[in-house]
Amino acid sequence: MQHAASQVASHAGAVLEIDLGAVVANWRTLGEHHPSGPVAGVVKADAYGLGAADVVPALHAAGCRHFFVAHLQEALAIRSLAPTSLLGVLNGLIPGSEPEYVAHDLMPVLGSLAEIDAWGDQARRAGKKLPAILHVDTGMSRLGLDAPGLAALRDDPSLLDGIHLAYVMSHLVSSEVPHDPVNEVQRGRFAAICAALPPAPRSLANSSGIFLGPGFGSDLARPGAALYGINPTPGLENPMRPVVRLRARVLSVREIPTGATVGYNATWTAPRPSRIATAAIGYADGWHRSHSGRGHALFDGRPVPLVGRVSMDLTTFDATGHPALTPGAWLELIGPARSADDVAAAAGTNGYEVLTSLSRRFARLYTS
Ligand SMILES: *Cc1c(COP(=O)(O)O)cnc(C)c1O
Repeated sequence: MQHAASQVASHAGAVLEIDLGAVVANWRTLGEHHPSGPVAGVVKADAYGLGAADVVPALHAAGCRHFFVAHLQEALAIRSLAPTSLLGVLNGLIPGSEPEYVAHDLMPVLGSLAEIDAWGDQARRAGKKLPAILHVDTGMSRLGLDAPGLAALRDDPSLLDGIHLAYVMSHLVSSEVPHDPVNEVQRGRFAAICAALPPAPRSLANSSGIFLGPGFGSDLARPGAALYGINPTPGLENPMRPVVRLRARVLSVREIPTGATVGYNATWTAPRPSRIATAAIGYADGWHRSHSGRGHALFDGRPVPLVGRVSMDLTTFDATGHPALTPGAWLELIGPARSADDVAAAAGTNGYEVLTSLSRRFARLYTS
């Protein structure tokens, strides 16, 4: 394993290391903060870019028995990796796909009367009750049953005939902003909606929701980001362990004179004689062009500023003052000392987008 790992790294242009032990440790930490019920693993978007094929077995081996993806195809791809687990599909039920859910024991998340109707029909065809999660909208206005839909359910509870409500769930709008009043508003709405529905277990908190206090505890938490090391409590110390390390190999180092420009469209001009290091990572690797001229990598623990445009396969850094930075050296772009959240802050996005963008072109090393 150790040997294979160093072999991969020794020929690669960029290496993404994923610490599955840290993912499991984070899942356990989240469990300690959510005593009211178990903690699921949200593994949509290929486990936030880190690889569901590896993350799901690691979580399952640790005892995780609830998983969520966004798309039916994502659920089909991991069904065999999470046996005897609830596997929920957050994006809802696309008409005609009902038999796939039954055949593979998948749990649709129903968010409209049409989806409820379709699933009820499927249950009648199957001749038995079928389980589903009912998603109710408490403020996102995105998916989930809206106010007229909820009123219709209250007026005619038989709409749920044939459906076993495994959970009623809602999703928080602003959970990473603890003092945003919308959190309390949603909590109150969710409680009122659940009270008016047939009794069923509840699911509310995402990663940050788990840290909003006991009032946001439910029968099932649904964290994604925090499992992968993203800070669920922005502004406070990150309670999660770092999971990801991304390194890119330096291919070329050159000295350029004052006034020389770097990269496409000459967006950076050397203000003094400069040492430019070109690394094997670019926007085709999900290292977005919007990182151009922003942020830095680390070399020997010291920052090396990113300069010029990010190109498709290459990114340039101002290595002036780093004489030890020579071709073959590795620059650390994400790691314990520079989190995905830090990278995101420099580029004007969030850690979720940084992680889910990471491409399949990297050599990937999984450690446990
Ligand atoms: C993505 C998602 C989650 C997980 O959110 P995190 O902020 O990554 O923890 C939970 N619930 C729903 C409905 C989601 O779409």
